[in-house]
Amino acid sequence: MSKDQEKSKTLLVEILKRPANGSCVDCGAADPDWASCTLGVFLCQSCSDIHRNISQISKVKSILLAPWSDVEVEFMLSNGNDAAKAKYEQKVPAFYYRPTPTDCLLLREQWIRARYERKEFVCVERQEPYSSGYREGFLWKRGRDKGQFLSRKFILSERDGALKYFNKHDAREPKALMKIHTLNASFQPEKIGQPHGLQITYLKNNSTRNIFVYHEDGKEMVDWFNAIRAARFHYLQVAFPGAYDTDLVPKLTRNYIKEGYMEKTGPKHTEGFKRRWFTLDDRRLMYFKDPLDAYARGEVFIGSKENSYTVLPGLTPSTQGYHWQYGITIVTPDRKFLFTCETEEEQRDWMAAFQGVVNRPMLPQEYAVEAHFKHKP
Ligand SMILES: [Zn+2]
Repeated sequence: MSKDQEKSKTLLVEILKRPANGSCVDCGAADPDWASCTLGVFLCQSCSDIHRNISQISKVKSILLAPWSDVEVEFMLSNGNDAAKAKYEQKVPAFYYRPTPTDCLLLREQWIRARYERKEFVCVERQEPYSSGYREGFLWKRGRDKGQFLSRKFILSERDGALKYFNKHDAREPKALMKIHTLNASFQPEKIGQPHGLQITYLKNNSTRNIFVYHEDGKEMVDWFNAIRAARFHYLQVAFPGAYDTDLVPKLTRNYIKEGYMEKTGPKHTEGFKRRWFTLDDRRLMYFKDPLDAYARGEVFIGSKENSYTVLPGLTPSTQGYHWQYGITIVTPDRKFLFTCETEEEQRDWMAAFQGVVNRPMLPQEYAVEAHFKHKP
């Protein structure tokens, strides 16, 4: 390395020490070791890979391994993550989903394209696809039979307070009406087997229903996701007048606390254990025969320890009929639920997930949800 090169590197490392440059400008991952020398930002490796897809705007370089010219270093010095955020995040709507390092590639890529390529957050007029309160279009929806995806018309309407889909293109009556106040959406590309796969859930008669959709165009799918978040945001603003945006935003959509296979037995504990797919969604533990079933075989409400809910490792010694060795017992005021996990690691992860829910005191509205579960046949 030449003397000049060494000087540039030293200066670059100094710039990197500014607090704003200590995390990836796009996803917030710690200690970025890449940079865009045309945008003047510091990036994690995985976001730098996405920047390569917008090479007409962003030229990425390794901070330590690539050669840097004086002009480039000077540019990084006068820009940096703070300046880029001030420029490209001027008008991010409160409801718009900001990805984290653990989010799927699609969410991070569309966030990056929205910022730098489409410049959606510099100009409000460019946000129409998700901010208008109405969205209509076709999505591929997974059918019940054989699991093939069929083209279906979807309409999201804040005025009607619902997301609807129609089986026939000219149908007047929707096949399903999903009320905005019970709606949730989360990207599940692996489970659905589609890189843009979105799971939408809603409540019908207080039971959870799932639908699985995707669109070939990643932007379309992320626009739908943000349109759902916008609709929920506006609904919550009316339902909780005066609430702070920072309190409402975490309620717009939620990822599941944990998903995976466990074995379960029935209420008598003498039925053989069966392998089922479990989803822990907030305080609802649901189990499915197939991960892509439209509705759960059963749902269990998990309250708090103050209300006599307990999670214990292991099973009662007399228990029989299980194949997996790592047991978990959930005690509720009504009954005990017995589960087994395939590995010790899974048992530990599920225990931590359940413990987290049980340790959290119940909110007033959660007592109403608990009461619904008690009145179920
Ligand atoms: Zn990143």
